[in-house]
Amino acid sequence: MIDLERLARAQQSLVEAGRVLHGAGKVPATGGNFSVRLDDKHMAVTASGRHKGFLTPADIMVTDFACHPVGSTLKPSDEARLHGQLYEDFPEAEAILHTHSRPSTLLSLLTTGSEVVVTGYELQKALEGISTHEARVVIPVFDNTQDIAALAQVAHARLAGTESCAYLIRGHGIYTWARDMNACLRHVEALDFLFDCELEMRRHR
Ligand SMILES: [Zn+2]
Repeated sequence: MIDLERLARAQQSLVEAGRVLHGAGKVPATGGNFSVRLDDKHMAVTASGRHKGFLTPADIMVTDFACHPVGSTLKPSDEARLHGQLYEDFPEAEAILHTHSRPSTLLSLLTTGSEVVVTGYELQKALEGISTHEARVVIPVFDNTQDIAALAQVAHARLAGTESCAYLIRGHGIYTWARDMNACLRHVEALDFLFDCELEMRRHR
């Protein structure tokens, strides 16, 4: 049974996140998708193809973690299974934001290996679980694919049991998750700041 009050709050937070992230240029041209956990089996997730800057509660649907719609004829975002996988692998995650921001797209393309490592930045403390600039923050990078089920498996194999809070998809964007939507928005902002810095630093190395 879906808690309808919780669903309404989730829809409102997703509508607001869309406005904020579109205003900041992080979800251009309908890119990205967002979700909020509803319980241990269900999420509220953006429907496929919706422009994230102009979401309404009607653009946000309920699915289970395998992406079967619940009480809706809408189609979930193509990448909704990546959200479901993350909720399964990170029981404390309450919100997930996926953006196609410029820094995440560029840095993931410029990274030939399977991870981006950032360290030495005060702002990395904006990420959940990071308490010092001296920490080594490892952000896995996965190759892009249109086979989302396969990508969900790759992410599960690399992330389950870790304390990760984000991963990059090469040439595509970033996924980040947190205990609530405000923390998740903070992650998006902090990660893009760190990626911008890394891009600039690479020009000087
Ligand atoms: Zn995407």
